[in-house]
Amino acid sequence: MAELRDYQQDLLEQAEAALQPRDARVMLQLPTGGGKTHIAGALLRRWLHDGRKAAWLTHRTELADQTRLMLEDTGVPASNRISWRVGNDAPYLTKGVVILMAQTVSRRTNQMQIWDRYRSSDLLVIDEAHHATADGYVRAIRQWTGRVLGLTATPWRLSKIEGFDHLFGQLLCGPQVSELQANNHLCQARVLMPRPGETISGGSIDDTGDYNPSGIEQANQDRPDVMTAGALRFWQFHAAERQTVVYAISKDHARNLVAVFKDAGIPAAVMLDDTLPDERANAIKSFGNGSLRVLVNVAVATEGFDLPDASCVVITRPTMSLALYLQMVGRGLRPKANGGNCLILDLAGNAEIHGLPEDDRQWSLNPRGNKPGSEAPVIRCEKCNGVSPAASQNCPHCGTPFGKDCPRCGVWRAWQRWGYETRCGQQHELVCDLCHYDAHIQAQLPITDELRRLTEMEPDLDAAIRHLLEEERRRASGADEERKRQLSSLISHRKSELASDSLLKAFKNHIAALPVEDRPKANWTNTACSLNGKTA
Ligand SMILES: [Zn+2]
Ligand SMILES: [Zn+2]
Repeated sequence: MAELRDYQQDLLEQAEAALQPRDARVMLQLPTGGGKTHIAGALLRRWLHDGRKAAWLTHRTELADQTRLMLEDTGVPASNRISWRVGNDAPYLTKGVVILMAQTVSRRTNQMQIWDRYRSSDLLVIDEAHHATADGYVRAIRQWTGRVLGLTATPWRLSKIEGFDHLFGQLLCGPQVSELQANNHLCQARVLMPRPGETISGGSIDDTGDYNPSGIEQANQDRPDVMTAGALRFWQFHAAERQTVVYAISKDHARNLVAVFKDAGIPAAVMLDDTLPDERANAIKSFGNGSLRVLVNVAVATEGFDLPDASCVVITRPTMSLALYLQMVGRGLRPKANGGNCLILDLAGNAEIHGLPEDDRQWSLNPRGNKPGSEAPVIRCEKCNGVSPAASQNCPHCGTPFGKDCPRCGVWRAWQRWGYETRCGQQHELVCDLCHYDAHIQAQLPITDELRRLTEMEPDLDAAIRHLLEEERRRASGADEERKRQLSSLISHRKSELASDSLLKAFKNHIAALPVEDRPKANWTNTACSLNGKTA
């Protein structure tokens, strides 16, 4: 059995303390790859004495096998091959852990109390406990008289009005993804996204709160290319040399993707829940030795599968579920032997909803309500397709600037916050959104034909515009001392306003209240590889 890492040992001790009260119901959160089940294994090894028993609920047969092996490796006897006759109480082992399928438990609890042979000193472990809100789990937990330990990477529900507070009394959280990355327990992730018009759309949200495969297909039916050939091209451009796991939208989509990759001469195979065990083992072996480059699966059908490690994860499925997003992303974050990173090709723009894999997240057992998530908004680099925090001033991947300092107010603003002041119908000056109002009412600087021509022709005008604007302003204000004085007092006034958050907010509201055509507009875009294979 592997030694526990420091944070794992720490969580183990916290969990033991939290499980002291006889009615303790504890949820333990740790990012994918952090070793939740190992902590639970170590905890069980210490828990099972003086006739104490434990049951482990899982929702996939593959996971049941993996769990049994893990527990045995930890020195905890376990069995998932037990006979359970209809009408009987749940089976138990006098020594060790009985691993039960959640679906079976759910059916049986519907008819009777099944835990009569368990006592309050016994422990019920629920793996992937973010599923524990389904009726069957809820019944099983309510009927259980002992302690409960839930394990999950994401205590998060699609429902905004229900949380986990009716099932668990305490939440223990492990380190954030960024902390595990800093200590080389997880590798770095680099998210890449196609340009906005070329991502796979989600369509309408169904009553589960998420997109579903038929809705997604419908939403993209006018451009079927984006779901298959487009995905291939984006992968070829960015990650053709990498061992890749692809998350498809449905089984049909998975098979279509494999066909498209194979047509392009790339060794690819599907891995689905109905793939025969032999084929599955072969695919994993070929993927491991590199003779198979791409393995395509469907997220909801393969949760918990022991898929091999990949240095590229392609996500084609749009989802509103943070849990599903992090589950897919987490597949590529195991540390790499060569210290390399993992590319996440986010073809469905999920990072715009859920943020980056390494964002710090605050978890809670309470319903999340309508509060916005803790994820920071992201920005996509037009030049390299890299996704980074929206507050970045330059692309951390390729160095492309995302904005510049405003020569008028001195504040750095992103490109999309710049525009020509045109409110009165005349073009005046290229200004940032903070200076928009001032520019209109106070400083109607002329703009030369030369500058206008240049901005129409040249995509990257930063230096040229900066120079020409300074010229313009010198000419306009130099001829008129009063105007120059006004302008400088105005700028210092705006600077003091910017120092106050509430005033800045009021000013932003003012901009937002302007008619759309009067708001600052984006004026140029850079070039980038695009999904349709053209370079703009
Ligand atoms: Zn970039
Ligand atoms: Zn400004």
